[in-house]
Amino acid sequence: MPDKFELAKSNRSTCKKCKEKIMKDVVRFGEESVFVRDGNEIRSFRWYHFDCALDKFKERVLEVEEGNELLNEEQRKELADMRNKLGASEFDFKSIADLSGDEGIANIKGSILRVMNPRDLTNTKGEVQTGRIVYVEDAHGNRGKAVVFSDLDLKKGSPILMVNCHVRLGGDDKAEVVEGPKTKIYFDESKVNVTVTTKYISQAWERPKNIFCVFEIAPTSRASCVICEERITKGDLKLIKAVWGENEKTKAKYPRKNSYHPICALEDDDAAEFIYEAVTRLSPDFISENLDELNIFKSKIKNLTREYELLSNLIE
Ligand SMILES: [Zn+2]
Ligand SMILES: [Zn+2]
Repeated sequence: MPDKFELAKSNRSTCKKCKEKIMKDVVRFGEESVFVRDGNEIRSFRWYHFDCALDKFKERVLEVEEGNELLNEEQRKELADMRNKLGASEFDFKSIADLSGDEGIANIKGSILRVMNPRDLTNTKGEVQTGRIVYVEDAHGNRGKAVVFSDLDLKKGSPILMVNCHVRLGGDDKAEVVEGPKTKIYFDESKVNVTVTTKYISQAWERPKNIFCVFEIAPTSRASCVICEERITKGDLKLIKAVWGENEKTKAKYPRKNSYHPICALEDDDAAEFIYEAVTRLSPDFISENLDELNIFKSKIKNLTREYELLSNLIE
């Protein structure tokens, strides 16, 4: 009984965020809560208006599998847009001129137009550090500012690619990128080892296009593996396959995520395709945090040549 959407059965529930009543027959989000009474596990729901739930815990709402078919078109579109954004940001290189100040982290690409002399600049921790301002020009001649702290040989005219850089509003109210602790800077596109892949969406089975096959760390122990039907333990590496679910009563289709133990995923009919898609969506942070499990997984997929080679490229 994980989180779900449902139509409010009466006027009696109160939204736990805004404290207003939720009217009968309006879609409400149920946050599953589990407590133990007299040694028994008791499950119940805390209810929220759709918008209030999105405000409070977007990620959790995006994960809901039950009741998606009850949402209206506008609500579905809102969720789809959010999923698209989440899925699209990691490896995409942008032009520095296309960034906005609320981007957070981004990967940028351009060429070095001009390098200023070293001076005191604010780093991503808010401390003053000696660095250089670099003017970067994109392919269309638009310019933006990058702040580089590493002692690198920055040559005018050279390509520059910054991966995982911080984006903030500069003094001129334009977005600028800043080298942070996790930023990697490259001068040659072929050396950029996090972009060995463009992200891939498999067309091998009927599937929704706005959710993706990914590796994930199980956020709870609630999901069961589709193959072995055992629970997947919280904190373990799992694989998600994007599929259409079907409401038993209404036969309405809704996008859902099936969970697999990584090893069990090899038993799926579309194993190679969906594992490939998930591998193309691995981020550098996720890889470094789950290196051991990914290495074990890699050793199990030696017969899937394409997937094995891609994963090997990423984790070496
Ligand atoms: Zn509310
Ligand atoms: Zn399993």
